[in-house]
Amino acid sequence: MTQQDRPPINWPATLMFIMTTLPVLFVLPWYLWEFEVSAAAWIAAGLLWMATGMAITAGYHRLWAHKAYKAHPIAKWALAIFGGMALQNSILIWATGHRSHHRHVDHKDKDPYSAERGFWFSHMGWMIRKYPSSDLDYNGMPDLVNDRVVMTQHRHYLWFALVPNFAIPMGLGLAFGDFWGFVLIAGFLRIVVSHHATFFINSLAHMWGRQPYTTANSARDNDLLALFTWGEGYHNYHHIFQYDYRNGIRWWQFDPTKWSIWGMSKLGLTSELKRVPEIKIEQARVNRELERMNEALQARESHSLIGEWRHQIDTEWVHFKDTLAQWADLQKSRIEAAREQVQETWEHSDIKSRIDAIDIEKALRQQRMRLRTLYREFELATADARPA
Ligand SMILES: [Zn+2]
Ligand SMILES: [Zn+2]
Repeated sequence: MTQQDRPPINWPATLMFIMTTLPVLFVLPWYLWEFEVSAAAWIAAGLLWMATGMAITAGYHRLWAHKAYKAHPIAKWALAIFGGMALQNSILIWATGHRSHHRHVDHKDKDPYSAERGFWFSHMGWMIRKYPSSDLDYNGMPDLVNDRVVMTQHRHYLWFALVPNFAIPMGLGLAFGDFWGFVLIAGFLRIVVSHHATFFINSLAHMWGRQPYTTANSARDNDLLALFTWGEGYHNYHHIFQYDYRNGIRWWQFDPTKWSIWGMSKLGLTSELKRVPEIKIEQARVNRELERMNEALQARESHSLIGEWRHQIDTEWVHFKDTLAQWADLQKSRIEAAREQVQETWEHSDIKSRIDAIDIEKALRQQRMRLRTLYREFELATADARPA
């Protein structure tokens, strides 16, 4: 693309970035050197970052873009207000663009923040110019255009964006007697930090980390990123199972967004939290382990032991396909039993099929463990074949 055919600058977004970033780069350091900022201003900044950040992750992302759960109007309004305060555009624009990201992930001309176009483009560049990949069509989004909260926020976005960002830091600043401290820390710094934390999901989380579930796209799982993105760092999982209200599915994975959605469900503010069945997750992981093994075999094609190993991995593939066939049969018999509507029989067969499902899940998990051991053994056995 030459200088001439670059799309025009998107001035509202560009000016907003300039006006929020410049004070942080040039005024804040001088201010911190010259004056003392109250602890209250730092605490307010932290709390506002949490509220606006999680309004994006729980609201804009998991609720509106992915329909991963349902929310009470009170929760929706809170998410729309704090989400607006995060200065990431309206829910309608954000969620529509994000669905396009998932549908066309990594496509250079269709994914609005394609990581294939490099770090800068996926991080911020895509917002600085009016790229055709960001052209949105709301026609296929009936759930969004028929949502009163979404449309009210969209029509009056400027108010949602400006009023709380001025009123809250200034009001609190006056109340605590630290006007400029609050404006600079809880206002400007908080906006810039929360911006880049979100943007890292489109840039870093598509470049840096592991891929335990799929290599079909560039998304990565990254524990470190999860720490300051309210749990969105488990992006490899998210891209394969986008309708799950969780991104970090294990108890030890840091996903405060998941915890807050779950917590709100206990208060009746959220409901119908969608979770991908464990058996599907195991399937994806075994599939990935087998792929990894295949890649390793291909890389050591000329090793003397390769025939033996290939035979072993072929057996594992057959085993995996058998397990999948068993699972498909089980699903079929469940549907048939439900259709027969003989209550007693159905209940009986349902209990039996649940036990069968647990067995299949266990078999998958065991196969995954076996494959991991095999992989390590293979690496050791063929280490001498490694290119110097
Ligand atoms: Zn992504
Ligand atoms: Zn998503």
